[in-house]
Amino acid sequence: MSLPRVVAVAPGSPADRAGLAPGDEVVSIDGRVPRDVLEWRFMVDEADVELDVRRGGVDRTVVVDKRDGEALGAEVHSSVFDQVRTCDNHCEFCFIYQLPKGMRRSLYLKDDDYRLSFLYGNFTTLTRFTEADFERVVTEGLSPLHVSIHATDPDVRTRMLRNRRGATSLRWLRALLDAGIEVHGQIVVCPDINDGDVLADSLAGVLDRYSSLASLCVVPLGISDHSNEPAMRAHTPEEARGVVELVERWQETFLRLLGHRLVFAADEYYLLAGLPFPEPDSYEGFPMHEDGIGMARAFELEFTGRTSTGIGSRPGFFQWVDGAPAEGYRATRVTLRSRSGGGDTARRGNVAILTGTYGARVLEPLVQGLGRADVRVVPVDNRFFGGNIGVTGLMVGEDLARVLAGEPEGDRYLLPDVCLTQGTFLDGTSPDDLPRPVEIVATDGVSLRAALA
Ligand code: SF4
Repeated sequence: MSLPRVVAVAPGSPADRAGLAPGDEVVSIDGRVPRDVLEWRFMVDEADVELDVRRGGVDRTVVVDKRDGEALGAEVHSSVFDQVRTCDNHCEFCFIYQLPKGMRRSLYLKDDDYRLSFLYGNFTTLTRFTEADFERVVTEGLSPLHVSIHATDPDVRTRMLRNRRGATSLRWLRALLDAGIEVHGQIVVCPDINDGDVLADSLAGVLDRYSSLASLCVVPLGISDHSNEPAMRAHTPEEARGVVELVERWQETFLRLLGHRLVFAADEYYLLAGLPFPEPDSYEGFPMHEDGIGMARAFELEFTGRTSTGIGSRPGFFQWVDGAPAEGYRATRVTLRSRSGGGDTARRGNVAILTGTYGARVLEPLVQGLGRADVRVVPVDNRFFGGNIGVTGLMVGEDLARVLAGEPEGDRYLLPDVCLTQGTFLDGTSPDDLPRPVEIVATDGVSLRAALA
C-alpha cells in the first residue's frame, strides 16, 4: 500500500488555500485511508475535509475549507494506492509476454483490475473478480467497464486464458449487465483457435446471453518477434477477409434484432484484407475508437473538416502503468509543441508526418487529397517489436531515430502523441533523443489539419 502523493495543486483551489503542497503524502482523509483514486474522489468530494498529511517525515493536519462537490484541486501520483490486481491468466497471445527484454519493469505487469478497466478502459477477464468487487462496482456505479470475452464457449475460453476460471468468470459479465452496468466487450482473434466457427459461435453466444453489451470489438492478435508461442501466428489476408465478412453478417443480425450493430471488426482487419472501411455512420458514434475500431474513418472525418471536434486517441499505450492520473486528473492534452531547433527555418521546409505502417496507409490518401507537394507521410517500420506490429501507438524512439536519420534536415517533422506516455516512448527514449526536432501533435485529424495549416 502506498500513500497518495500530491503531484500538483491548482492555484487558488481549496487545496491551495489550505496549504496542501506537491510532495505531501496523504495518510488519511477524515480518518479514512483511500485505496485508490476512486475512493479518493468520493472522500475529497465532501465539504470541509481534514487531511492527515506527511511532509518531510513530519505528520500534520490540513483542514480544507470547501463546499460539498467542489473540486479539491490536487492531483495525486497514481490511480491505485493499494496493489494493482494482477492477472492470473497465461494467454498465448498476451502482448506482455511478447515484449522485448530490458524495457521498464512496470511494463511487464499484467493487470486484471476492474478499477483500471473503469479508469483507463483496460480490459478485464473477470477471472479474479469477487462478490465484493461486484458490490463496489454496482454501489459506486463504476460504469462503463471493459471485458475480454474471447470466446463464449467455456472450454475455448479456458484454453485461451490458460485458466480454468475462464470457464465460469463470464457469469460476472451477466451479473454486471443485469445490474445495469455498461460493458464493452472484446474478442482477440487467434487464427485456428477462436476464428471461423468458434467466432460465429461466440457471436451467437453474445446474442443469446450478453445481448445488452454496449459494444463488442473483434481485434486481431498482435504478434511480435519476441513471442515464444508456436501456435500463435498472424492472420493471412484471406482470414482477415473471413473475419470482416462474418462480423458484417452478424452486424445485420444484431441490427435487425437489437436495433444496433453491437459488434465491430478492427480497422486492422480491413487494412489486412484490403477492404474499404465501413461508412462512418455504421460505427454508431465510435464507441470503441480507442480499441482500434473506426479510427481511420474518424480521422478522415476530422481531417477533412466534416467534424469540428477531435474524436482522437488518448496519448500513450500502457499509460496507466506509469500511474498517470485518471481522467479528470490528467494534465491538459498537448496540442502542438515544437522542440527547440525547429523555428523559422523548419517552418519554411517541407512537412513530414511520422506514423506507423498502418497509419501510413490511412494517411497517404488523405494527404494526397490535399494536393500539397510539400507534405509527405513517413511510415516508421516497427523493428523494435517486429512481427505484425504496425500501429502508430507502438512506435518507439529507436525506430523513429533510424528513420529520421535518413530524412533531410530543416523539414518539419510531426509526431502523433499517441506513441508517448508522459513524454516517453515505450523504449524509454524521448523526443529529445531523436536526430531531428519533432513537433508533437495530438493524434486526431483536427489537430493534424491545424498543424499543416
Ligand atoms: S488476460 Fe490479458 S494480461 Fe492476462 S495473460 Fe491474458 S492477455 Fe495477458
